[in-house]
Amino acid sequence: THFGYRDVPVAQKQKLVGEVFSSVAAKYDLMNDLMSFGIHRLWKRHFVGIAGIRAGDRVLDLAGGTGDIAALMLPKVGATGEVVLGDINASMLRVGRDRLTDRGLVQGLRYAQMNAEALPFPDRTFDAVTIAFGLRNVTDKQRALEEMHRVLKIGGKALILEFSAVKLEWLKPLYDLHSFQVLPRLGQLFAQDADSYRYLAESIRKHPDQETLAGMMEQAGLVKVEVRNLSGGIVAIHRGYRV
Ligand code: SAM
Repeated sequence: THFGYRDVPVAQKQKLVGEVFSSVAAKYDLMNDLMSFGIHRLWKRHFVGIAGIRAGDRVLDLAGGTGDIAALMLPKVGATGEVVLGDINASMLRVGRDRLTDRGLVQGLRYAQMNAEALPFPDRTFDAVTIAFGLRNVTDKQRALEEMHRVLKIGGKALILEFSAVKLEWLKPLYDLHSFQVLPRLGQLFAQDADSYRYLAESIRKHPDQETLAGMMEQAGLVKVEVRNLSGGIVAIHRGYRV
């Protein structure tokens, strides 16, 4: 590879690989901040704020990647609760674990590699299951919603934070300009990768809108489904319960 790993001793190699991944994670954070003007942090706070997590709760954060959501929920579950961070990608999981550990967050956290479409837990395990900016990447979304429902305890809730359909007319042209003109340029400038950010804008448009996703949640057995738009529908929070 262009990093020239082949001739370095194993310990050093592992360190190099670690550095590549943390630089990817650092870049990922930078891009999130640039693309959203830092607002993704507020969206995540709001999301965890209305999740109604209580002391002693057992919570699963799917597609937990960077650990942002887990870090916000951990103080809420307290010493008697537990947050399980799940991600399909082992490197993302490692990055998340390293960052949370570096911040002194260890007690009450568990990590497991998993596909949201086939959760490795028995029925009725969790008080809440969250997925933030992850459902869009899942191939079989209906299946993932059914799995979220299955692992929830009776009375437990599923919470989804995801890009959605902009509902404010005046915002639409600005949002399109940002998505199709600004994003690829930011991607090129800061990540030497315009295509991924072009793809991002397209994947957001293909993702089910507020009403469709709410219907899919009901189809999966969730009830009292509620939608809350943030920033005019650029993102939406969906919440539903298992009864
Ligand atoms: N939740 C984090 C956040 O809000 O910053 C990370 C979001 S990141 C955009 C999407 C994550 O979804 C990645 O870490 C990726 O590995 C994970 N992912 C993609 N498909 C998945 C699947 N089928 N099951 C579980 N995780 C998945």
